[in-house]
Amino acid sequence: GEIRIGLGSCCVASGSDEVKKEIEQTIEGTGINLQLKNVGCVGMCHQVPLVEVIDENKKSKLYAKVKPNEVADIIHEHFKPKGLIDRLRSNTFHWLEKMQTDTVWEGVDRYAIDVRDEMVSSFLDRQLPIATEHRGVLNPLDMDEYRSFGGFDALKRILQTDRHDVIRMVKDSGLRGRGGAGFLTGLKWELVEKEKAEKKYLICNGDEGDPGAFMDRMLLESYPYRVIEGMLIAAWAVQATDGYFYIRAEYPLAVTRIRQALINCREQNLVGKNILGSDFSFDIQIYEGAGAFVCGEETALMASIEGNRGFPTIRPPFPAHKGLWGFPTLINNTETFAQVSYIIRNGESRFSEIGTENSKGTKVFSLTGKVNRGGLIEVPMGITIRQIVEEIGGGVQNGKQFKAVQVGGPSGGCIPASLYDTPIDYHSLLEVGAMMGSGGLVVLDEDDCMVDIARYFLSFTQNESCGKCTFCRVGTKRMLDILNRITSGKGTKKDLEELKYLAEWTRKGSLCNLGKSAPNPIVTTLRYFYEEYEAHIEGRC
Ligand code: SF4
Repeated sequence: GEIRIGLGSCCVASGSDEVKKEIEQTIEGTGINLQLKNVGCVGMCHQVPLVEVIDENKKSKLYAKVKPNEVADIIHEHFKPKGLIDRLRSNTFHWLEKMQTDTVWEGVDRYAIDVRDEMVSSFLDRQLPIATEHRGVLNPLDMDEYRSFGGFDALKRILQTDRHDVIRMVKDSGLRGRGGAGFLTGLKWELVEKEKAEKKYLICNGDEGDPGAFMDRMLLESYPYRVIEGMLIAAWAVQATDGYFYIRAEYPLAVTRIRQALINCREQNLVGKNILGSDFSFDIQIYEGAGAFVCGEETALMASIEGNRGFPTIRPPFPAHKGLWGFPTLINNTETFAQVSYIIRNGESRFSEIGTENSKGTKVFSLTGKVNRGGLIEVPMGITIRQIVEEIGGGVQNGKQFKAVQVGGPSGGCIPASLYDTPIDYHSLLEVGAMMGSGGLVVLDEDDCMVDIARYFLSFTQNESCGKCTFCRVGTKRMLDILNRITSGKGTKKDLEELKYLAEWTRKGSLCNLGKSAPNPIVTTLRYFYEEYEAHIEGRC
């Protein structure tokens, strides 16, 4: 038999480490032939700790919200080991506690996709795992297992392929950068490849700083080899010589797993000199970011690696031309790299068949807020907000009314219930005043005050503004002052005009995207929830 236990950050925070220790202690000396396996994130963060038991007959059962005192009963249920009952009897803690596990799902198959239980099924059925392929099955650091699912096959293949063909494949797949801007990935690669230089750098941007977002963290923790493979393919295609993982220091588990994965890759000649016996050499090191939101911006990120203050700079020059230490540099988001090996293994058309005309493939989102089933999801582009919230998320908590969803992080926009059927793609989100961003989805219900929400997100961006340019430094501060005034009942109608004016000029005059997009929550709430601003001003709330 086998027991799989999720050990991502969310799982550990909910006690999966303790559950794992309890399983080890419980089976010790019982003679049960059982493999205890760490797996990455399944995405069902609302149900962790998750324990999947596969018995001798290959039948699988998934237990949710497992507590240590339920472990013995679960093991006994499946394996009935001789001697365990006597041992349990002497252990009053185990034996007297009735099993409290909230949910038991049967019939979860090996890929945790073809499930019969309605709740799990609706959470997973609407999803399409590409960056998160084999979720809940892969042990993040088990390289043999990654290989057994086709891991590093894409790398082997591209080493035998003309690099221009690789770039063409990625271009034709329609993959766009998942960090927010949505620039065509293959085109970015082409620009770097065309540069002639003695050195080229490649950076994986894992500096995720949006409140409520945890996509990069989960991908780095649960799929380190997939991200590394994507980086290797990109490095080979653009002829990069040195690579960096830029990961927030607040993600210690992600840093630990990537560090170990790189050690394992070096041992297997997958990173370093003459990779897999070819003439391609590429080494990767880790740089831990100190937590400044602005360092997610490419030029600020590079300044940070160079040891300078994380200030964005005016573009051009673009990193593809003059990046890290003046050399051509390719920067892609973690999720972008996690999509690459699938495209090479399955062909560009398999990927481009998924999604919409202008947005191909899938997108990973962290679904949070007032939703019944929050977690990490990967969905095909073009799915609607309603489908995500109602079908995957199981609707709004406590039977309340859906009011809006904040899409795209603190600089995204609030989309109201009247636009519930907006498809998630780059174009449609921009049309309604929001943006894809890196993939945060925060669900808001009828009790949420939209002016407060705008103030919350603006206070974040204002705090994170690096202060380099006046429009962002002063504009965000002035807007925040006005929102504070309005929410404390001291606002006037003139403030609303002032807000619009400041939002417009902060957007137009700021140097980088942090400032350019900081007004989005204000602009969209003014557009869709104007009456709530008026209610504050008129003292009706
Ligand atoms: Fe700094 Fe804001 Fe200017 Fe960006 S827009 S450079 S964060 S002050």
